[in-house]
Amino acid sequence: MPNLLCTVPMVEDRCCVCGQFFAMEGKFHEKMKQDGDTFHCPQGHAQHFIGPTDNDVLRERLKGAQDDLERKSVYLKDKLSHIVVLHRQRAALAGVITKLRKKYEPERFEERKSK
Ligand SMILES: [Zn+2]
Repeated sequence: MPNLLCTVPMVEDRCCVCGQFFAMEGKFHEKMKQDGDTFHCPQGHAQHFIGPTDNDVLRERLKGAQDDLERKSVYLKDKLSHIVVLHRQRAALAGVITKLRKKYEPERFEERKSK
């Protein structure tokens, strides 16, 4: 029977109860860190990674980015509505200026119109 030799990346860790060093397969170690699930040392002591999991950190970053995006979106909508108001005011002022020119400079207005 032929032998199969393969290499599996392992991550070393130490039991927080008995202090025994042990190794976990890299992907399993990463999953435990991400999910915060319980695993056991070779002596059977249950343990899990404390603090925010990688998923918690990523979830918090995503929430922060979404909140930031929402704030910027509200800011831009406010600026856009302000621009629309300014555009309407400019159009209204242009109408007033045209009316005043017609009233106080009819000859000049007619000159322009004929050109
Ligand atoms: Zn242990």
